Amino acid sequence: QSAKPGGDTIFGKIIRGEIKTDFLYEDDQCVAFNDIAPQAPVHFLVVPKKPIVKLSDAEDADEQLLGHLLVVARKVAKDKGLVQGYRVVINDGPDGGQAVMHIHVHVTGGRQMEWPPG
Ligand code: 5GP
Repeated sequence: QSAKPGGDTIFGKIIRGEIKTDFLYEDDQCVAFNDIAPQAPVHFLVVPKKPIVKLSDAEDADEQLLGHLLVVARKVAKDKGLVQGYRVVINDGPDGGQAVMHIHVHVTGGRQMEWPPG
């Protein structure tokens, strides 16, 4: 675990307010904010304040927190007006294409998503 509360990644800096970011949602467990490089008309991230590196590093004790991230994803998607549906993704590790090593949930929507994603 990182010495800094919230971790030492770019998302840690965002959570601590060191990089100014407008939050779509915040509570004691997580924040949600728009992705800086959106891959769809709507693309936001839900990030726990606890700096879990990646899903494969999460522990059984994180079960409530992991579920909470999905509940928040659903609430923010509704606020964003994604009535036709949306995609929820967690990239894990190198093969999963994870670039920021602080677990986060991507929500993309506002257009037809393709499957498989490639
Ligand atoms: P990953 O590939 O780790 O699942 O996704 C990381 C995501 O974080 C990418 O979609 C990237 O555009 C986004 N991102 C990286 N740096 C920043 C930043 O400083 N601010 C915001 N809002 N998003 C970022």
